[in-house]
Amino acid sequence: MFGFIKNAFTSRRDHADCSGCSLCLLVCPVWRQSRDISLTPHGRAKAMQHGDAVDAASVESCTLCMACEPVCPEKIDQVGMILDLRRLQAPTSARDELQAHMTGLASRPVASRPAASTTLLPDSALRAHPDTLARVTILLGDKNISVADDDGSDISQALEVGADIPAQCLEQFLTPLRLHKKIIVADGLLLRHLKLWLPKARIASLGEALSGHAEVRRSLRTTDLYVIEPRAYHSDYQRLVKHYDRLRVNHGCAFNLDLQRIAIPATARNLSQRLGLAAHDDEAHARWVLHGRSITRIVVESLEDRAAFEKVSDIPVVHLAELADGISDV
Ligand code: SF4
Ligand code: SF4
Repeated sequence: MFGFIKNAFTSRRDHADCSGCSLCLLVCPVWRQSRDISLTPHGRAKAMQHGDAVDAASVESCTLCMACEPVCPEKIDQVGMILDLRRLQAPTSARDELQAHMTGLASRPVASRPAASTTLLPDSALRAHPDTLARVTILLGDKNISVADDDGSDISQALEVGADIPAQCLEQFLTPLRLHKKIIVADGLLLRHLKLWLPKARIASLGEALSGHAEVRRSLRTTDLYVIEPRAYHSDYQRLVKHYDRLRVNHGCAFNLDLQRIAIPATARNLSQRLGLAAHDDEAHARWVLHGRSITRIVVESLEDRAAFEKVSDIPVVHLAELADGISDV
């Protein structure tokens, strides 16, 4: 029998610390859409303070955009709480299937390949676009970078759904990563956890890595809307706010950093929508992100958002990796 990992966020503040200040409502995309306080961090904390159970709709509604954590004056680990609540919920068929899949993965051999100095963990959207993935690897250093055989997408999905992750399965994923000097991660939820699982590793989001490239930065314009992927951003916002502020000052582009627009179409999906069990109106959120802006181009860090923006606007949408002029099409 396999052991399972416990939530990595053990020494955290929780619902008991909520003062009811409601600052989390200002940033929460679920509150903007529903105006239902029971679906917000405030509502969940108050329910628990009164000894009530948090209902499944509230636990599943959270998009895990992580925007509520930086604004919470009580430093409550909102996302850790949601992930724990999902694990405690009644099993669903989707979670059962993933649980069985994860247990099966625990017995597979660890894939081995020579260690490059940097490894890239692409997400499924990037893997589905091999041309963009090839441009990313060229920009990030080509010969010094390897694309990981296991990009952790199973582990990320298990975290999101609330499936238990066998400890052996996690170790198989982490072992090859320890051989690299730097890890670049496209999936923001995975990045958040990697920072806890590998506290000494140098880990950067794909957005940060690409926007740090001189060719990419030079191609940014004052009339661009640069769309930050919020999960990775909130995993390290105290440092990254300076990174993006430098881009804003030096290149003049606008960012989706204002209230409730930090969530983007891809991260405004709740659990059922992410699992394909409920319809999702990506377009409504894309319109909201664009509302009132005067821009000539949309630059996305996450390929998942491109289609949503293209559906609601004629403004060209490009991925960061497509900005660098010095790279011919691959
Ligand atoms: S993580 Fe995002 S969706 Fe979930 S409660 Fe916080 S702000 Fe709302
Ligand atoms: S911001 Fe924090 S303390 Fe304030 S209501 Fe939300 S969860 Fe409670």
